[in-house]
Amino acid sequence: MARLGEFEFIDQFLKSQAAQGQPFYRHPLALGIGDDAALMPPLESGEQFAVASDMLIEGRHYFPDVDPRSLGHKVLAVNLSDLAAMGARPAGFTLSAGLREIRPQWITSFLDGLFSLSRAAECPLMGGDTTAVPAGGSEVFSVTVLGAVPLGQALRRDGLQPGDDLWVSGHLGDAAYAVAVKSPDPKLNWPEPRLALGLRLRGIASAAIDISDGLQSEVMHLLKAAASRGHGPAALRATLSWPDLPIGPRLREAISAGRIAEHEAICMAITGGDEYELLFGASPNERANIREVGLQLGLALTRIGTVASDATPSMDWRDALGKPIAAAWQQGIDDGGFRHF
Ligand code: ADP
Ligand code: MG
Repeated sequence: MARLGEFEFIDQFLKSQAAQGQPFYRHPLALGIGDDAALMPPLESGEQFAVASDMLIEGRHYFPDVDPRSLGHKVLAVNLSDLAAMGARPAGFTLSAGLREIRPQWITSFLDGLFSLSRAAECPLMGGDTTAVPAGGSEVFSVTVLGAVPLGQALRRDGLQPGDDLWVSGHLGDAAYAVAVKSPDPKLNWPEPRLALGLRLRGIASAAIDISDGLQSEVMHLLKAAASRGHGPAALRATLSWPDLPIGPRLREAISAGRIAEHEAICMAITGGDEYELLFGASPNERANIREVGLQLGLALTRIGTVASDATPSMDWRDALGKPIAAAWQQGIDDGGFRHF
């Protein structure tokens, strides 16, 4: 069986697997794959929807020879990471696929990666669309994820306050290093959305964002969001500690082995994308709570800086002595970072 029709694909590959291990598919009011639209069970009282959508395009976001299992994982993981950054719990998702043809072996692996994470996160596939792209065109996968969050309690980007600490989860730089040396890495290929952390940060964090484009760029997003919220301080400046950054184990090993200079590695951790860690702000009064959350989740949570009022949003990297970092290092940061356009 070299090729497969769209309807066989939906029936044989999607329907049964989507229902496995998902309470959604047993709920009397829910309706999943198979009708004109999916029906969701009601949210719990006092909840509102959180909706996120992310698309992966062949040749742009992944290589044609990517491990399909990892791709299936990643297309859902990057969306769940957005829910995590909002402090939302996953409720379900849709998958739209533009394919040149349906290759059973490839799609089986892709769905394996997708459904493993779907079950682990209790986030059911509820529906989607399958369509052919022209021969020779890029394949594309788009996921829209629906989540739920208690009314008014979502972790937004625009909540930073003067005096807040800035924190980051996990470690940084290994995904960028894996891209640079063209070798697979769990951080790059199997990102773990920080859903449990997002839920625990509700009521603790003042603002949050997930790190998809690089720490430097995400800090700036938080600062600009705070400045545009229209009340409170005009702008915020972030002062960040270069030596406090949690550098990934692979990157640390590369530094020890002399394969990369320490300042280049740190620059990579600051500008590298595809991390899917959470960057968040919180009042210094929350330090003990945040340490407790990190211990309970078995996840490193590192305080990397602070924010203060200033005339315009700006970022300031400091060395171990609290002095501005070397100009060449700053230049490395300014030149780095992944921009889509
Ligand atoms: P319609 O013509 O009403 O849009 P389709 O033939 O596109 O219906 O889809 C039939 C059913 O299969 C729908 O319930 C749809 O949500 C589901 N479906 C189609 N493609 C996918 C997909 N890639 N992932 C999940 N569900 C899908
Ligand atoms: Mg359709």
